[in-house]
Amino acid sequence: MLEKVEPLRADWVYRFTQSNALWVSDLNPKRPHAVTTTGRHTAHYFDSRSVVENKKLLAKAAKDSVKLLMHTGVNLTSVDCVVGPAKGGTKFAEFLSSTIAHQRGFACSWASPSKHDDGNDKWFVFDDLERIPQRGQTVLMCDDTLTTGSSFELIQDALRPLKVNIVDTVCVLLNRYGLSEIRGRNIVSLVDCAMPTWDPFSCQLCRGGSSALRPRVDNNWKLLTAKY
Ligand SMILES: [Zn+2]
Repeated sequence: MLEKVEPLRADWVYRFTQSNALWVSDLNPKRPHAVTTTGRHTAHYFDSRSVVENKKLLAKAAKDSVKLLMHTGVNLTSVDCVVGPAKGGTKFAEFLSSTIAHQRGFACSWASPSKHDDGNDKWFVFDDLERIPQRGQTVLMCDDTLTTGSSFELIQDALRPLKVNIVDTVCVLLNRYGLSEIRGRNIVSLVDCAMPTWDPFSCQLCRGGSSALRPRVDNNWKLLTAKY
């Protein structure tokens, strides 16, 4: 039996939904459901692009995230650099760093390593030589979405030779990981929403008569969000 998952922090659920970044199904079988980029089926979908491309909304997201970080006990005066992976985390890292700087009255830098892939392994590289965390600095890791945490693992690998300190809290717009901590680090997020996915052959939504479609193709977003 499918249970409706209620995401936390209703105001940010509303904002993400209004900006067409987040879709959460009401499980009405007349409503279609989503196919993820990996081909699995889901009753939830989050694509941060419409948030990170909206400066006003992202500024508000950064401001609220900084409040939550402070509430969690993160010492913002100690953070020298905010690191978020390209491309989803780039703008969020930039906006978080400027909000932290504004809040405390002195500068905070940001950096955005990019993912490289040789077919077997994946790793992050700080390509922009002007934006590399310096030895001894304290780094706050952020991203748009937390799914499995693998990006944070890979960023840690890229940070290790730089001999920096990493804050024991990560900051994300949306946590779909389903837990409040990941490998010993706290997770600060504007929305917590576990988003289970199913193999198409065992999808309960398909069995219930709902059709599956790719959210960002043609008119599909309108079909997902229409009244049924
Ligand atoms: Zn399905």
